[in-house]
Amino acid sequence: MSNVPEIFGSLVFSESVMKERLPKAIFKAYKACVNEGAPLTKDIANVMANAMKDWAIEKGATHFTHWFQPMTGITAEKHDSFISPTDDGSVIMEFSGKELIQGEPDASSFPSGGIRATFEARGYTAWDPTSYAFIKDGCLCIPTAFCAYTGEALDKKTPLLRSMRALSNSAVKVLKLFGIETKRVVTTVGPEQEYFLVDKKLWEQRKDLVYCGRTLFGAKTPRGQELDDHYFGVIKQRVLAYMHDLNDEMWKLGVLAKTEHNEVAPAQHELAPIFSTTNVAADHNQLMMEFMKRVAAKHGMYCLLHEKPFAGVNGSGKHNNWSMSTLEGKNLLDPSKDPYHNLQFLVFLVCVLKAVDDHQDMLRVSVASAGNDHRLGANEAPPAIISAFLGTELTAILEAIADGHEFEEGPQAYLNLVKEYLPEIEIDNTDRNRTSPFAFTGNKFEFRALGSSFSISGPNIVLNTIMAEALDDAYDYLAGKENLAEAVYAYVKETYNAHKRIVFNGNGYTDEWVEEAKKRGLLNLKSAAEAIPYFSNQKNLDLFEKYGVFMPHVTKARTEIELEKYCTTLRIEVNTMLEMFNKDIMPAFTLYCKELLSNIKDKKALGISANYESKLVEKISALGDQAYEASLALDKVSEEAKLVEDLAAQAMFYRNNVIPAMDALRKPVDDAEILMGSKYLPYPTYGELLFGINE
Ligand code: ADP
Ligand code: MG
Repeated sequence: MSNVPEIFGSLVFSESVMKERLPKAIFKAYKACVNEGAPLTKDIANVMANAMKDWAIEKGATHFTHWFQPMTGITAEKHDSFISPTDDGSVIMEFSGKELIQGEPDASSFPSGGIRATFEARGYTAWDPTSYAFIKDGCLCIPTAFCAYTGEALDKKTPLLRSMRALSNSAVKVLKLFGIETKRVVTTVGPEQEYFLVDKKLWEQRKDLVYCGRTLFGAKTPRGQELDDHYFGVIKQRVLAYMHDLNDEMWKLGVLAKTEHNEVAPAQHELAPIFSTTNVAADHNQLMMEFMKRVAAKHGMYCLLHEKPFAGVNGSGKHNNWSMSTLEGKNLLDPSKDPYHNLQFLVFLVCVLKAVDDHQDMLRVSVASAGNDHRLGANEAPPAIISAFLGTELTAILEAIADGHEFEEGPQAYLNLVKEYLPEIEIDNTDRNRTSPFAFTGNKFEFRALGSSFSISGPNIVLNTIMAEALDDAYDYLAGKENLAEAVYAYVKETYNAHKRIVFNGNGYTDEWVEEAKKRGLLNLKSAAEAIPYFSNQKNLDLFEKYGVFMPHVTKARTEIELEKYCTTLRIEVNTMLEMFNKDIMPAFTLYCKELLSNIKDKKALGISANYESKLVEKISALGDQAYEASLALDKVSEEAKLVEDLAAQAMFYRNNVIPAMDALRKPVDDAEILMGSKYLPYPTYGELLFGINE
């Protein structure tokens, strides 16, 4: 067992390391830059770079990299060594302030949605001093933002930082009205990460898992998650060893990995960190996903981060626990003991409701992907309809205000399970709701619709920006009002009444909710293909422009990137399906049938009945015929898809025509799999994959 306080952050150029290694004045300047946005001069950067290099070399690093997050959703790095030649033919280890502050990777091979032509290759990376540098694989990694020569953001971090700035500006103004002085408001996120672990040897044998991260064929196992025995169940030794290793790696990198447990599906697990500032949380979540894969490889396993690796059992999501706090650490979504009289809280709360209601479309867009389409609305994840859960107490408070009467708080509730034997416990004033996409959970909102493989940046860019807009609305209403309390209650009343349709405390998995949501006029964008084009609606172009997050042409470019990603993902899935079918599945059918047929022949020669073989061969042949026809149809329709020029139309074509054709191929193959002898199957079954880790 490792000594946690000793290893924690040992690979991070953290504030305590800086304090130790930087001259006082430089450290102060760095803090002013991080907390107040004061400029960081070249001289300061030079000193910092030198200290960083010395520290990194002591830790065994030889290289540095600007670590950034292009639109691919994963991270990118290009390593440069610290060496610099000297006159006498030897080398010294150098790292300048300029190298720390900016880099120039080639931008042409990253997605840009048409902003960059390949011949316009220049791109810049710029240091994000609010996220600590760290060492990975002997390389000093400097978290950076990535933009084009012309200034457009080509990454996920730049707009995230811009959205945080927008929210901060708006929130600081509103807080002033309540006498709360702060220089900055930061948004905080704790992302809970779900994942699957499978045996690496089995994973290798499945082209669908290797190419697509999910299974495209596979009959149901005799046993899935029906017994509800995996959630929070005892963790297997091999998985536990993995989790310990993963924690160690995370702790060394200063990631506050905290809670780990088994999830609902067999082979499914979760790791949650303690929350941090959003951009740091985004960096850390990327590192967490990367190390989940690496550490798995060391343990002979493969970590699947896809939203739906297996049909028929739950998929994986990511819960984005989100709040806002002042620089001094005051959580602005903390209701305190007496929320009814907590004016600041009430304003922030209704602003969240207004933001979520006004921008359901953008929240939905921010969680849209081909992978996540398998989860949203599938009774294991929140519905595709965006709504907010408040719980009984807060709803009652807002209803009271809307109705114009005083809210009477009930007494603190206690639970005593076995009087005199067990201590009394305080219970929360509201239960949880697992079915809501956006649920208030005590002092934060939990946006539960993210897919497991997502970068959390996209959804948080949206959350921060729409909240900034709602806070501006509150400011405009409240500023200059003589009686602030009166104005707040009036504002809360008006805003809640205007947006209460977004509040839903019931079961989001039911058909009744779908009906009810329709009556309320809420959006129900069932697939990514339907959702993504909303990104470029005029309202959203204006929103992101107003808050300095994206210029309209960048919003449009990102819409294209997302549509393209959707179509490409499906195209790869189709290609993989057809390859598996033609190269592995059909030959397996043929082989099994051939064996059966030769048996029939032998038996018949001896005058023995060959009834079951005949029936079986007939069944498998029929399924084979059906599958073969379906494969031709799939091939044809996917060729047609490529010809649809408009990307939004192409995405809809995939959704409406290609996906059903994929399903039509899968069905007979899965039906045949059940009938086939094990040794004829071309790949490991669901049962082997899901229950393959036994020790
Ligand atoms: P659970 O939902 O399982 O009870 P917690 O309430 O402890 O768990 O929180 C789940 C996640 O929410 C954790 O990652 C936690 O750090 C994070 N979290 C807690 N408070 C905040 C906050 N103010 N802002 C953002 N995330 C938070
Ligand atoms: Mg959760």
